[in-house]
Amino acid sequence: MKNITIVGGGLVGGLLAVFMAKRGHKVDLYERRADPRKNDVYGGRSINLVVSHRGWTALKAAGVDKAVEEITVPVFARMMHDPKGQLNRVPYSIDNKAIHSVSRGELNCRLLTEAKKLPNVTMHFDHRCVDVNLDTATCTFHDEVEGDNIAVPADLVLGTDGAFSAVRQEMMKGRFNFSQEYIEHDYKEIAFPPNADGTPRMDPQCLHIWPRRYFMMMGLANLDGGFTGTLFMPNSGEFSFGRIKDEKDLMRFFEEHFADAIPMLPDLKEQYFRNHQSSLVIVRCSPWVHKDKVALVGDSAHAIVPFYGEGMNAGFEDCKVLNDLLNELGDDNWGTVLDAYNKARKPNGNAIADLSLRNFVEMRDLVADPRFILRKKIEGRIQQRHPDKWLPLYSQVKFSDIPYVDAWNEGLRHDRIMEEVLAMPGIEELWESDEVERKVLDLLG
Ligand SMILES: Cc1cc2nc3c(=O)[nH]c(=O)nc-3n(C[C@H](O)[C@H](O)[C@H](O)COP(=O)(O)OP(=O)(O)OC[C@H]3O[C@@H](n4cnc5c(N)ncnc54)[C@H](O)[C@@H]3O)c2cc1C
Repeated sequence: MKNITIVGGGLVGGLLAVFMAKRGHKVDLYERRADPRKNDVYGGRSINLVVSHRGWTALKAAGVDKAVEEITVPVFARMMHDPKGQLNRVPYSIDNKAIHSVSRGELNCRLLTEAKKLPNVTMHFDHRCVDVNLDTATCTFHDEVEGDNIAVPADLVLGTDGAFSAVRQEMMKGRFNFSQEYIEHDYKEIAFPPNADGTPRMDPQCLHIWPRRYFMMMGLANLDGGFTGTLFMPNSGEFSFGRIKDEKDLMRFFEEHFADAIPMLPDLKEQYFRNHQSSLVIVRCSPWVHKDKVALVGDSAHAIVPFYGEGMNAGFEDCKVLNDLLNELGDDNWGTVLDAYNKARKPNGNAIADLSLRNFVEMRDLVADPRFILRKKIEGRIQQRHPDKWLPLYSQVKFSDIPYVDAWNEGLRHDRIMEEVLAMPGIEELWESDEVERKVLDLLG
């Protein structure tokens, strides 16, 4: 049994506490904010995210999947809204598989509640990590209520303190590689309320996308019939947050690009000028571990852009891999386990960062492109007829446990094959023919 300090009680910290406590370790979880189960730490906002297959695999392994399932909404398809308000529904898979929308705040509370049920977990809210001695696994926390600092020695520190991790900050003082990249686009959340009778204003089983090439909006259903809309746009330039200075600019912009959303957003003006504009950052670093004492897990190791909806899922998968390695190598071999964890996860962290950037182009741009839609149809047909030979990249990422790095490589191979197939003369008419099928199989080798 080890004394483990978990720094950060967000989504990944909550799940990791469950995994470690179920192994019999004594877990102390420290969170800088107040307890979200008693306080509105999310500022009343209904931010939501999607849980996908590998997230579920980890939740199941920790035995908390049922508790989470109750608060999710299944999402089976993308619903594209064109500038004229025409809708086009494209299922995520050929066999009706779903991803699941969940409120970030509710999920955080559920995971903390599940962790708290275990007798060997103690939670300390309003405690901000300000220092870590990596060699002795001793953290110093600032008590935000009392105002004093306490030093907490442990056998092991697991840093789940997010994209701007204090634990990682300490590791950066040594031999450590680090890069941080802000993308051009920021985001702003805009809530779509339900109808007066509580019914949703759009199909809740779809992820709604308004792809506009240089920017986009998306909407994900909440349990209360409302949707969380997110507008992604550059900070400056022709189509940008910077160009919308007053209500007139805002309404002109929405009328031109998102006209069908206006009747569903009765308080658009108030929300737009009230809600915070946030940036999006990609963090890559290595190593994710320090000897047998410290590991980074979740966003602290790999903050990515949200366009595949995989940041949390990747973090949950980190927790499961760590747990599997402990099963395999034993709880007394943390040095070997952490080394293996670093080797196993780091390439996957890089791959999902790249995949997420790629999906941004797909979401904002390609989903409205007839060639892209044709490619999806061809891929769907090949998958239907040869499921053992072709699993589209999206399905590999969202509906399988295939390592991200393998999915990325297979996705690049698919690109090369589909490039040749789409170049076939008359492909628009031919796409359902034996000839196209044969060509794909030949190219697959
Ligand atoms: C707009 C948007 C949409 C997204 N959509 C999805 C999605 O659909 N699916 C998905 O899988 N992912 C999504 N993500 C990514 C997801 O939110 C993150 O990957 C996930 O929250 C990471 O969890 P985490 O616990 O590692 O970090 P966080 O959720 O950031 O939690 C870190 C915790 O540590 C605490 N903390 C920070 N510093 C300290 C400190 N010094 N001391 C103590 N505590 C500290 C914080 O208060 C916080 O509670 C999205 C992200 C964004 C921005």
